Amino acid sequence: MRQQIAAANWKMNLTLEEASKLLDDILSGPQQLKSHQKVIFAVPFPYLQMAGTKISGNANYHIAAQNCYTKKSGAYTGETSVDMIRSVGAAYVVLGHSERREYFNESNTMLAEKVNIVLDNELIPLFCCGEPLPVRGSDSQNAYVEKQLEESLFHLSNDQITRLVIAYEPIWAIGTGKTATAAQAQEMHAHLRNVLAKRYGNEVADNIPILYGGSVKGSNAKELFSQPDVDGGLVGGASLLAAEFGKIIEALK
Ligand code: PEP
Repeated sequence: MRQQIAAANWKMNLTLEEASKLLDDILSGPQQLKSHQKVIFAVPFPYLQMAGTKISGNANYHIAAQNCYTKKSGAYTGETSVDMIRSVGAAYVVLGHSERREYFNESNTMLAEKVNIVLDNELIPLFCCGEPLPVRGSDSQNAYVEKQLEESLFHLSNDQITRLVIAYEPIWAIGTGKTATAAQAQEMHAHLRNVLAKRYGNEVADNIPILYGGSVKGSNAKELFSQPDVDGGLVGGASLLAAEFGKIIEALK
């Protein structure tokens, strides 16, 4: 079975003390993960090491950085390299979140560079894509998201793309309380899998986990995750509440 993943995106929230307590509360929850199920915590940079220490030794739990820079090292004040991220125990890097695209002007081309440096340095990209409301309003979301994949991912080899996790996050559903319906999520996920299959073949496409993100909560996770092409969720707001996120973990297939 394809990997099923509950990924928490804490964004720029929580003090160290709060973050540490939240992690303890989630990790001490009743969830029993099967071997194909994973939980990933995308925590702010200063907490990567603390989070890595707390989950170490548990194969189902992983840590992600929320971003990285395109260069290996050097005079780039304020940036964080893949070597730094790997050295504190993170295995994943979230790339292309709509907030990075919108507030920090990250283009498809820049994201292709970030995907390359992450893969070249034995980390796994959790690559986000998704359309804004006007694009959904004009029913052109399929072409929009396809272009994001083409321009940031389709230079990768078969071996490289199989290491990726993709998250479909319609921007109109992020932090708005407005979730895509399970049918809308399934339709887009099936489209993405078709696009991946055309470029890389069915076997590769069938193995890439595609997560849904956008106002996932304890109350809607089960229905969303039960769709055949939805392999879990990338969760913002609800991942800051231990009980809510616990329900989301338990909703994994
Ligand atoms: C996100 O930030 O990736 C996200 C999906 O946020 P929320 O769950 O709050 O909509």
